[in-house]
Amino acid sequence: MSLMSVRRFLTAFSTTKPLFSCLYTTQNSTVETIFALSSGKGRAGVSVIRVSGPQVCTVLSQMITKKPISTIRPRTAYLRMISHPVSHEPLDNGVVMYFKGPHSFTGEDVAEFHVHGGTAVIRGVLSALSTFPRVRPAEAGEFTKRAFLNGKMDLTEAEGVADLIQAETEAQRKQALRQMNGALLTSYANWRERLLQAVAFLEAHIDFGEEEELEPDIIEKVKGMVSVVEHELLSHLNDHRKGERLRNGVSITIVGKPNVGKSSLLNFLCQRPAAIVSPLPGTTRDIIETALDLAGYPVLLSDTAGLRETADIVESEGVRRALRRAEEADLLILVIQADEIPLDGKLSGLMDDAGSKAALISFGLNAPQNQKVMVIVNKCDLLPEETAYSLAQSFPSASFISCTSAMGIDGFLEKLSNVVAELCGNPSVGEASLTQQRHRVNLEQCAQRLRRFWELMAIDDVTLCAHELQQALICIGKVTGKIRSEEILDVIFRDFCIGK
Ligand code: GDP
Repeated sequence: MSLMSVRRFLTAFSTTKPLFSCLYTTQNSTVETIFALSSGKGRAGVSVIRVSGPQVCTVLSQMITKKPISTIRPRTAYLRMISHPVSHEPLDNGVVMYFKGPHSFTGEDVAEFHVHGGTAVIRGVLSALSTFPRVRPAEAGEFTKRAFLNGKMDLTEAEGVADLIQAETEAQRKQALRQMNGALLTSYANWRERLLQAVAFLEAHIDFGEEEELEPDIIEKVKGMVSVVEHELLSHLNDHRKGERLRNGVSITIVGKPNVGKSSLLNFLCQRPAAIVSPLPGTTRDIIETALDLAGYPVLLSDTAGLRETADIVESEGVRRALRRAEEADLLILVIQADEIPLDGKLSGLMDDAGSKAALISFGLNAPQNQKVMVIVNKCDLLPEETAYSLAQSFPSASFISCTSAMGIDGFLEKLSNVVAELCGNPSVGEASLTQQRHRVNLEQCAQRLRRFWELMAIDDVTLCAHELQQALICIGKVTGKIRSEEILDVIFRDFCIGK
């Protein structure tokens, strides 16, 4: 078998249909037309109602009566009177746009009504739309689901759309936009292509291995392809969860003894009195959590009960919760009180990473090995200026601050932002990061299949090697949606909002 015939085989293999066929197609006359308010709920200057499906032209011709539908060109904005199709009562004067499938978001015919964003106007247009047969309100994420099913985007891009809508910070927006524009798909499609080639070569070797025209070093070629994919896949997986952290928010927990100023620090950072500040030790018992945008990165900041031995049952439950929350955090902020340092020589041992970790472990914290700790020395206003200065010189890795006078806060915020940026990575440069647990699970299974491939290759079992590569391809296919089930799609799209 020549390489030409291997390539023919390869083409046949790569066009193999997915396990579950497409549910919706624009040609399918059983497809219902869907509509929804696609802009946010509530009163607004303009609201957008989107309609998608085979009935779009009927809807337009009956609701826009001033000029015939034939005068409406796709992708052009028209100011038109929008009327009720049955009573012909005018509903609003709005902008109407038509996108002819497949050149639309969903791949179907789509219409958009840009109307005045009042409750009665929106309700009027939505109820007018529901009078058409086979036209119904859209379910959550149904427009994007149709775009996926009609081949306009893969699953990672669809998830990027949802993340872009959810994005609350600059860095999250950048990451989601890249993913929506196919950054993850590019890598995954590339691995898939190379593994497909490797499978085709192995199949050729199995079928025609004895024939002379088959390239002699075909197995070496396969090994080379698998090794490159495996290398890229593993470095994608070993990204210290930067992309997932950026998507979900960096979890930061403030810990320390009672009364050192943990609640004051949280309040200072979120610029509101989220936690009760009191001179009485042991006031914070439950975890107080607040979300912050720190230099464009999303942060979930938690204030916890002060760590100390106590006979009070409620307080000791608070300490237990504090320790558990601290164990789950991406970053710990250990707060120490400044005026205790010169008195207590032991405290100076806390200032570096190992010392602070050891102290936390002595409180009962089971901190993960690679967990980062930042040490904050608070209440520096209580020290003579020169003492505070010389301590800061001695322990450059710690931040010396005062929540009361705001001394040292700028420097601390800069250090904190740098640590958070390092934990999330720069979403604009380099390879796109893994962003979801769903991707990680499937890609880890893919990596396992590749490990198994090498074990089988070592014992020359080429047939089973091909099988493992096919299984690896299925794992990648599940991430991009080439291999899909309704169950998985339901889980993915139910988190979208209605109208998207
Ligand atoms: P927590 O128990 O660790 O959460 O500590 P709090 O934030 O409730 O603060 C305990 C006490 O220390 C309160 O009376 C605060 O006003 C006070 N405090 C907090 N930060 C500072 C600071 O930087 N300087 C001074 N002088 N007092 C502070």
